[in-house]
Amino acid sequence: MPAKNKILVTGGAGFIGSHLIDRLVKKGNRVTVFDNLSSGKTEFIEDHLENPDFTLIEGDLLDQDVIEEACKGIDLVCHVAANPDVRLGASDTRVHLDQNILATYNLLEAMRKNHIKKIAFTSTSTVYGEASIIPTPEDYGPLIPISLYGASKLACEALITSYSHTFDMQAWIFRFANIVGPRSTHGITVDFIQKLQKNSDMLEILGDGKQEKSYLHVSECVEAILFLIENSDEKVNIFNIGSEDTISATEIGKVVMEEMGLSNVKITYTGGNRGWKGDVPRMRLGIEKMKSLGWKPVYTSERSVRDAARVLLRRM
Ligand code: NAD
Repeated sequence: MPAKNKILVTGGAGFIGSHLIDRLVKKGNRVTVFDNLSSGKTEFIEDHLENPDFTLIEGDLLDQDVIEEACKGIDLVCHVAANPDVRLGASDTRVHLDQNILATYNLLEAMRKNHIKKIAFTSTSTVYGEASIIPTPEDYGPLIPISLYGASKLACEALITSYSHTFDMQAWIFRFANIVGPRSTHGITVDFIQKLQKNSDMLEILGDGKQEKSYLHVSECVEAILFLIENSDEKVNIFNIGSEDTISATEIGKVVMEEMGLSNVKITYTGGNRGWKGDVPRMRLGIEKMKSLGWKPVYTSERSVRDAARVLLRRM
């Protein structure tokens, strides 16, 4: 990626998006953040607000005219905005259709009309559903998501690959494991901290606590995104981004307790082999494709979770 590219980052004021823009600005790009600040925060991007090469557009991807205007003169779109709450789909069946699928369609239309040819998209391990092969490689199939969130992200991937082929675009699709780190506002680490801050005698863990998943630190996630955009050049480039091991829900609970200096916490379980309907109990992504290009994570899942918990505790 040559410096001084004009890059639009949707969702750039959110957890992962704000780390991505930190790096993009540092590399000398001109960055525009497009965010409706529904879960994003201006404090996450405040270091850049005075930078002449940085623009914040407070807008909603469901507003076609606004996103079309924002896309003018852009070289690369990093589409990070979404509703990332996997659990929500079980109680609100519309939210992922609107915020993920329709929002992505609006963005692709805005790109098509403005002749923008490059898009990077933040997808997810949940597109694989309950994969029978673990670690799960990018060419695993059929893809059978079990959450409405996973379904919506797979639909977004399909729209992006189809637009790429139909309208001569180039796409990078990144299927993330669980990403943790500073500015995280949701997920199991945040959840456990909040529960233990309310009651430090007891921790309720959803499911049986044996759910085993891969966790990656946000700094490594962002490093991988930029490395892969710079080092792959197919029409459609699909990569898993995750760590090389897993950590269980119970082990995360113990890490959080240690970081909070708590002992003698009674752990209870809600039971069943998954946290909620649509939760995939075992997830680890095959990252050979990314490694073959020369990038691999350094942190283990435990180290990433521990580091995230430590930093989050300073602010929560
Ligand atoms: P986040 O909620 O912190 O970030 C999402 C951002 O998008 C927020 O700033 C929000 O205000 C913005 N946004 C939402 N709807 C919008 C709309 N209609 N118009 C404009 N802006 C909108 O979430 P995150 O954890 O940083 O996730 C970022 C991306 O990575 C998402 O696409 C998510 O699906 C994906 N992802 C995250 C994880 C993870 O572990 N955090 C794992 C896999 C994939």
